[in-house]
Amino acid sequence: LGGSISRAIQQMSNATIIDEKALNECLNEITRALLQADVQFKLVKDMQTNIKKIVNLDDLAAGHNKRRIIQQAIFNELCKMLDPGKPSFTPKKGKTSVVMFVGLQGSGKTTTCTKYAYYHQKKGWKPALVCADTFRAGAFDQLKQNATKAKIPFYGSYMESDPVKIAEEGVERFKKENCDLIIVDTSGRHKQEAALFEEMRQVSEATKPDLVIFVMDSSIGQAAFDQAQAFKQSVSVGAVIITKMDGHARGGGALSAVAATKSPVIFIGTGEHMDEFEVFDVKPFVSRLLGMGDLSGFMDKIQEVVPMDQQPELLQMLSEGTFTLRIMYEQFQNLLKMGPIGQVFSMLPGFSSELMPKGREKESQAKIKRYMTMMDSMTNEGKWQLDSTNPKLMNESRVMRIARGSGRPVRDVMEMLDEYKRLAKVWSKMKGLKIPKKGEMSAL
Ligand code: GDP
Ligand code: MG
Repeated sequence: LGGSISRAIQQMSNATIIDEKALNECLNEITRALLQADVQFKLVKDMQTNIKKIVNLDDLAAGHNKRRIIQQAIFNELCKMLDPGKPSFTPKKGKTSVVMFVGLQGSGKTTTCTKYAYYHQKKGWKPALVCADTFRAGAFDQLKQNATKAKIPFYGSYMESDPVKIAEEGVERFKKENCDLIIVDTSGRHKQEAALFEEMRQVSEATKPDLVIFVMDSSIGQAAFDQAQAFKQSVSVGAVIITKMDGHARGGGALSAVAATKSPVIFIGTGEHMDEFEVFDVKPFVSRLLGMGDLSGFMDKIQEVVPMDQQPELLQMLSEGTFTLRIMYEQFQNLLKMGPIGQVFSMLPGFSSELMPKGREKESQAKIKRYMTMMDSMTNEGKWQLDSTNPKLMNESRVMRIARGSGRPVRDVMEMLDEYKRLAKVWSKMKGLKIPKKGEMSAL
């Protein structure tokens, strides 16, 4: 896909006369590519129409950077399509919220419920899981196993066959126990489809969720729109989570899900494990959709903002892909300064969206400084620790010492180490990044 889009744009920029015909040909090529990425036909057509309105033929003809203009227009348009215009309901820590998960069997609901609970638990919430899937044998066992592993309270039954009753009882119980995030997992299959949607409606009526999350497998292809719409028509879906983004699917169905539910994507699932879960970030997602990789614009940015003499060193470090605590420390410094290198890192998917979400800069800065204080106290342990990439070396007694040394609770040290693991994963995506040879930078 990426190949054909860049080819289309390449052909376009090679053409000497940019007329409407050439633009149309380019757009048709991109249309085909987006369809292959499972973007719904109608959405692709809409985008095509909009692009034509936006891209000014005179600008193109005047010899401005045509490739940039078209690429940027497509990129922006897709970003816009992923933004339904209003944020989803966001639960508040310490205040009871009920969140109901819906989606077809196999989409990843039960797995995602646990990830969602675990994600919040790590941030100090008190989540709980309710299994309202009484259709599939083994559904409760699966949830129980997940919940136990993550040490999250759960509710369900092997005997009771009425999902509405269980959902109601579970929510009731966890409200009494002052849980602030009560998550209801539901069934995704029924003998008849109509019965499934009726069941969702009833569970929703009984539990009065503050938020209904539609979970969708990224590989379902063109079926995405109808599936999302069917759920939206029976319960008031307010957010979307796309799963299995670690596979081959580019996830074009996400555009359909947003269009059908008029709700934003809030997280993506990137693996079977509990922590393979990321806050959704529009730009890297669209880059991936367009086959531009997660690093689109990254090289440009380096070239643009990092002083020439610092570029080779930065690229070298990135291409090695090794992420030590020391590197994390240095990048935190860069991020706080928001100097040139900090700006570059703020573009890395999963780097700034999580560490420094917009509007919460103060809070985030305090958090980063807290992490740095803890790392400061690690230097007393000897330099090797900061340069090690083996988390096993971080045993219990060391964690305790760091906590004591920095005057922070053990929980904070664990959080900092979790953050390290997460960033190390983001960082490892850089491995093998092609380093341009001298003089090649400007050709990119
Ligand atoms: P449910 O029927 O909707 O509850 O789906 P499950 O949670 O049982 O998940 C179905 C399968 O998809 C399981 O084998 C999960 O491990 C797997 N799965 C869920 N999310 C992801 C993901 O993000 N990546 C991958 N690779 N597998 C996932
Ligand atoms: Mg399930």
